[in-house]
Amino acid sequence: MNLLRRHPVAIALVVLLLLTAIHPLPALVDAVTGSAPGDADLDRPMLYVIFAPLSDTLDAVTFFSLARAVWAVVVWVLLLAAWGAIRASSDSLSWRRIVASALLGPLALVALVVAALLLPRPVPRLVSDGPGTVIDYHAHTNASHDGRPGWTLAKLAQWHERQGFQATYVTDHNVIYDGSLPVPEGTSISLLPGVEWSVYRQHVVAIGRVEALPRDSFGESTARMIRMFAVIERQGGLSIASLPEYWRYHEEELSAFVLGGVDGFEIVNCAPKALGFPSDLRRQVVALAASHDLVVVGASDNHGWGQVTCVWNVSHPGAQGFHTNRVFARPLALVQGDWQAWTAPVTQPWFMLRSLTWAERASWLTWVVIILLYRALPRREGQAAGLGILARSLGRRSRETPTPVPNQTPT
Ligand SMILES: [Zn+2]
Repeated sequence: MNLLRRHPVAIALVVLLLLTAIHPLPALVDAVTGSAPGDADLDRPMLYVIFAPLSDTLDAVTFFSLARAVWAVVVWVLLLAAWGAIRASSDSLSWRRIVASALLGPLALVALVVAALLLPRPVPRLVSDGPGTVIDYHAHTNASHDGRPGWTLAKLAQWHERQGFQATYVTDHNVIYDGSLPVPEGTSISLLPGVEWSVYRQHVVAIGRVEALPRDSFGESTARMIRMFAVIERQGGLSIASLPEYWRYHEEELSAFVLGGVDGFEIVNCAPKALGFPSDLRRQVVALAASHDLVVVGASDNHGWGQVTCVWNVSHPGAQGFHTNRVFARPLALVQGDWQAWTAPVTQPWFMLRSLTWAERASWLTWVVIILLYRALPRREGQAAGLGILARSLGRRSRETPTPVPNQTPT
């Protein structure tokens, strides 16, 4: 009881880590069948597992749909601010310190989001036993208007290589990558030619050696837009309807896409706007593609932000049609479309914890114990020897006063 009163957060975390182990989620889900694949798995580097609480949290921040991210940030900011303020006022601190304490949690949250976008870190990679190429069908460089500045082909290639990809199409917005540039030094990734055309309420990923086309002539109506599929085919390329646009604007017109000659559909796309794609619609699109022998693909849609992809493809090079490509996604990404946005502050950590392997769970528990020891021991034994300066300074700080505000520091 004493432990529970002193460390409610740590105890709640331990209970959650054990509860979520009862019904865990697989590392990967086949987005077509909905079940875990037997011939593909995620390989997590040692450092990723050692720092699992940070690694898993940053992955979970990366795999938010836009609507769920907004809810999670607003609710967590309010809760952390209230918690900080209540803690400070129960210690009867001045109002300035109460405000400082209330800001601490929200600032930590902002730091976490920035770290998810920018911090280089160890990442999981796909390992596949079966035949085929691990490939990405849709990714951007700084040649796109919304690509991260400085996000060169070389950086894109390294990003893919770290995660187990062997090849990626380079599909910048309305800028053709013709595949003629040499493979960047230090990587073995094949960079394949492609483009992402913006046309009437739809983005069309064209892969292969495609050429420029009069993009404006495919504007203003769905009927005009779908004529682009035949043009891409005549150029020798394949056309793939991208998410989220066909879900947002053409949900009722997908059979017209098929009649127009589209070669495939994205069924998973890791962009925050596309991650909310619901499972029932994914099943409908998979059924449509299967009945017309069209390809279904996953797309990182990487623009240079974030360190991890939510999806990989294993494809048989040269083949076409429904059975030539398999799509393996992280389960946390797939549930984004199935839960109401307002549940995100609770369901995001819940599904993250359910996705942990036993090694990651052991790492989380170890970190909880380490932090409890650092916080508890000096408190019990005063200036306890043996735990080092960090323990003593942490203990002293938490028992006495918070760090002084800089402009109040005596000079
Ligand atoms: Zn894109």
